[in-house]
Amino acid sequence: MLITQEEKTNARRNIQRYEWARAIRDRAVEQAERWTAVSDETLWHLPTEQSIPRGVHVNKEMGCPNCGHEIDRFGNYPWKVDVIKTPWKIQCPNCGERYPKNDFGAYYRSGKGADGLFRRERADASLLCNSDHPDPNDPLHAFGVDDSTGWKDSEDHVYRFIGYYGHYGAWTAVSDALSALSEAYVLTGEQKYADKTAILLARVADLYPDMDYHFWAEQGFENSDGLTGRGKVYGCIWEAGLVSGFARAYDAIRDGLDDEELYAFLSEKAKQFGLPPQGNGQALRAHIEERILRQIEPAILRGDIHVNEPHTQVTMATAAVVLNDPNESDRMLDWVFAPKTEDKKTDSSGNKETEEQGDGVSLSRPLPLSPSGRRREEGNGGHIPALFAGEIDRDGVGSEAAPGYNFFWLKGMMDLDEVISKRPSYTRHNIQRDFPKFREMFRAPARLICLGRYTPDIGDTGSTGSPNRNVASVDLYLKAFERFGDPDFAQTAYWLNGNTTEGMHSSIFHLDPEQVGEQVKQVIARHGMRREHSDVLGGYGLAILRSGETEHQRAAWIYYGRSRGHGHLDTGNLGLYAHGLNLMPDLGYPEYASAWPKRFGWTHHTISHNTVMVDRTPQHPNYSGKLRLFGTSPEVRMVEIASEDGYPQCPVYR
Ligand SMILES: [Zn+2]
Ligand SMILES: [Zn+2]
Repeated sequence: MLITQEEKTNARRNIQRYEWARAIRDRAVEQAERWTAVSDETLWHLPTEQSIPRGVHVNKEMGCPNCGHEIDRFGNYPWKVDVIKTPWKIQCPNCGERYPKNDFGAYYRSGKGADGLFRRERADASLLCNSDHPDPNDPLHAFGVDDSTGWKDSEDHVYRFIGYYGHYGAWTAVSDALSALSEAYVLTGEQKYADKTAILLARVADLYPDMDYHFWAEQGFENSDGLTGRGKVYGCIWEAGLVSGFARAYDAIRDGLDDEELYAFLSEKAKQFGLPPQGNGQALRAHIEERILRQIEPAILRGDIHVNEPHTQVTMATAAVVLNDPNESDRMLDWVFAPKTEDKKTDSSGNKETEEQGDGVSLSRPLPLSPSGRRREEGNGGHIPALFAGEIDRDGVGSEAAPGYNFFWLKGMMDLDEVISKRPSYTRHNIQRDFPKFREMFRAPARLICLGRYTPDIGDTGSTGSPNRNVASVDLYLKAFERFGDPDFAQTAYWLNGNTTEGMHSSIFHLDPEQVGEQVKQVIARHGMRREHSDVLGGYGLAILRSGETEHQRAAWIYYGRSRGHGHLDTGNLGLYAHGLNLMPDLGYPEYASAWPKRFGWTHHTISHNTVMVDRTPQHPNYSGKLRLFGTSPEVRMVEIASEDGYPQCPVYR
């Protein structure tokens, strides 16, 4: 169990005792209300079947059919969706137009068979017309009409409205509702939240085994698949978060499944549509475990769930611990630590073929399928020991250039450690016990912070010039302090909290959450406050010179680390902060971290950086920068770096 009965009791007691805990509960209840207001019937119909595509772009080359690229300023996934108020429509946030122009809901219902599933072949094609222009002779009769595969304009541009709805409408709503409802149940113990969660999970379990994103990738739909074309509901990258959410929701309500009304509703559905039995506690648990939790391991082995390190492993561990099966769970946890024969072949930042084009990630391409459709299991483990030995550098930074991505490794290792700790009988591996580098991983984010508010914007991180502490938060350092007890973690938490212990507390599930503030106070009394100084992260490849106090603080940095892993071709790039400002900002995250011309021609290219470009060409990707000199005195701080591989034609580049 991820949340034990004892932790639920603690949370409910803390809500009685503390204002901040009540605020958490109130927020959870408010989020859940959106979904408790919806009928069981509507909720049950929320998850869509395999025949409704899931795509993350309507048409990113063309933008909105009405206002074109004006929509781009609303972000990468800009369309507005409200599955309750305006089902089957997406709305442009810029011009307000809604698409598709046909009544897709009516068409969808017309295509449902006795099994309750939509099939295009049996749907009523006469419903495929623009609702505002019903006359077949009207030139706009077919404008904006989507039968689920997208609307094609007169120049053959395809706009995938329903695909976007399937992703950012239906399944995003399922995921949001599950998390809101199950959290509200954990914090209040009220049965209505468990019932609604169970209805959604039961329906997801009906549909999940047949979900196959690959089919839609072949039809031109885009999703977060790192260009592998793999996935289930989503592309293989975002699938991990989606299914972990299913598992967590189930874990949260497992003790709240015994409700006759719920069983009556679900048996009725099962009878009507010929679904697997789910009309009593045992059957419902088996239904969810069999058709959601037990789908996760094979999907990971096939490559249909495959995300940045080490989050695939977190997904496996979450499924294992929630499943709580005496044999399967330990075997799945063993996989997390088992070796992977590919380790020697891939370079440290992932596969070269996909890395520079992947939509938001660097990942190695999944192994080819065997004839049975399963990937080779032997030598395909979660290789956590290899990550600690070879991929995470001595500064505790994961092997990606961009802080937004490499600190994601820390988040992953924390989750992994936390999840595995919830299966105390499993003692073969233990992140905190077995890998001392884990502790360093917590230190790195704070070491990067300049002027108390900036993280150097290296690679695909942040937006131009804006303050950003990345993952470094009071919460993170309190967790580190609780885990390891090192005084510097307490000092960092105190510093990030504005040099006070005011408002500090542990998780709502803690027996005595406010004692941590006292402990931090004691550390500060004994060891003093955190002192900032110039610093070199020799493994990561960043030197930071710092001087001045309070509002006169200055910091300058030079980067000479990896250019792969969401990096830019920026060896020797300089950054400078003073007067509270970022005076030489990098462009940060590109418009799209995928095959996008402006990314390669400018954001990622050497030319947009504060470094030397040679022969009007970009640097070669490299991870061979070296520190040649670093020194500080009260008056002077200096650093010199060199790189041989950025420009192989240059005998000296420093
Ligand atoms: Zn528009
Ligand atoms: Zn850059």
